[in-house]
Amino acid sequence: MEKPPVSNADYIVPAKIDIDPHVLAGKLTGSVKIGIGIPDNAAALAGSSVRLAVNGKDVAAEIKKDAKGYQVKADRRAFVQALAGQTGEVEAKIAIVSDTGSAFVGTDTVIVKTESLTLSVRGDDSVKAGEEFSLSYAVNGAGDSMRELNLNLSYDPEVLEFVAAESAVKQLNFSAEAGQPGRVTVKASGTSNQLFNKETLFTVRMKAKETEAARSEVAARDIVYANAKKERHAIADAVHAINLFFEAREIAVSGEGGASAIDSNRGTLRLSAQVKPANANQSVTWSVYGLDGEATELASITPDGLLSGNSKGLNGQVKVIATATDGSGVTGELTVDISNQLQALTGSLFGAEPAWAAGSEYDKAFDGDVNTYYDFKNGAGGYAGMDLGEGAEARLDQVRFYPRKGMEVRMVGGKFQGSNVSSTEGFVDLHTIGEQPAAGWNTVNVSADTAYRYIRYYTPETGNANVAELEFYAAPAASDLMPE
Ligand code: CA
Repeated sequence: MEKPPVSNADYIVPAKIDIDPHVLAGKLTGSVKIGIGIPDNAAALAGSSVRLAVNGKDVAAEIKKDAKGYQVKADRRAFVQALAGQTGEVEAKIAIVSDTGSAFVGTDTVIVKTESLTLSVRGDDSVKAGEEFSLSYAVNGAGDSMRELNLNLSYDPEVLEFVAAESAVKQLNFSAEAGQPGRVTVKASGTSNQLFNKETLFTVRMKAKETEAARSEVAARDIVYANAKKERHAIADAVHAINLFFEAREIAVSGEGGASAIDSNRGTLRLSAQVKPANANQSVTWSVYGLDGEATELASITPDGLLSGNSKGLNGQVKVIATATDGSGVTGELTVDISNQLQALTGSLFGAEPAWAAGSEYDKAFDGDVNTYYDFKNGAGGYAGMDLGEGAEARLDQVRFYPRKGMEVRMVGGKFQGSNVSSTEGFVDLHTIGEQPAAGWNTVNVSADTAYRYIRYYTPETGNANVAELEFYAAPAASDLMPE
């Protein structure tokens, strides 16, 4: 025989209580659902309203029946407040009393996370001197209510200026008053909904003064809030750093170590630009011109300011110009003397064949690529050179060469030679490489006193004529030489 239903308030029916979500944190808006599993023989939860008590504290709630059974919905904030002061895994005791007086009790374990409240600030982090910027503030967190928020904004009054502060939150009581220089007192009061977890609670407009300061900050300090119980709590400072910049007004150009000359063949000079004031964008573009402002072949410059001489034997003065990239159009310049540049010789190439392997023929010593090299099939007898042509004989003044990488030793004993007979005969030694050359570019001053048509590099016994690059330079014609 079936048991009669249990249906009056004298009975407190144990129920299976399921609180959803299980983690109570984050925003205080939203609802908490409590699923109730009741014994088969209990009376139905009749009625349109319900009284919910969590940990003995009343929480407004409503009850609905759906496919899963009975669901009680409670306001999340009220629910969290009923658990106030507890953190971590908490056993929440819940009692539900229906209109008809049926009472159900149960417990569930929930994780209560109380986060400390934080004041966040966002806004421009790079501001041009003389211009306004704005910062947006908000208070976020969980686990408490808020009725009032007070804080002080502090900043360097020499660098920054307070313009105004305002809140777009409806009916919020908000004020911001400038006090002593560099200080603004901000006050806001209202409901938790108005103060709390807003995307923006208030904005502050500031102006960067026209100073040379490169960096400054706006700090929200002495932040205190009062909750619904009028308890006052502190919140950590919120500091916003700002980079300040000015338009370029002047550019000083200088050479490394104070130098303003390139006085060796194919020499280089590292240039630097100091843009003033100091908080201006320091980036510049480099260009080089003749003193007349026209394009020049005397020197060239890389995007990062490395000035190089020429391979045409041209000497004289150039004007190096640094132009600000901030749109100000400001420039700075330096005059650089270019001297001792030599004429790179050109002609038809010749050399000994065959190569050790395809791709390492003698022309690889003249292709402008330090990674390719000449590698003759035999250890001895290899050579690579240049026929300057009939009537174009030149006095070899300097050789620049770049050994095959890692094979520098193969050039010890190698010779630079000149001939006026043919590409295979009549060669005279002009210079012998006496010791292991450096990895990278090497310069040898030959200073030949005779002009030759055929110029070549000749390998030592076991060198396979290895060399990555060869550059031959002519001495200036006698008529070009200035008397000492
Ligand atoms: Ca090469």
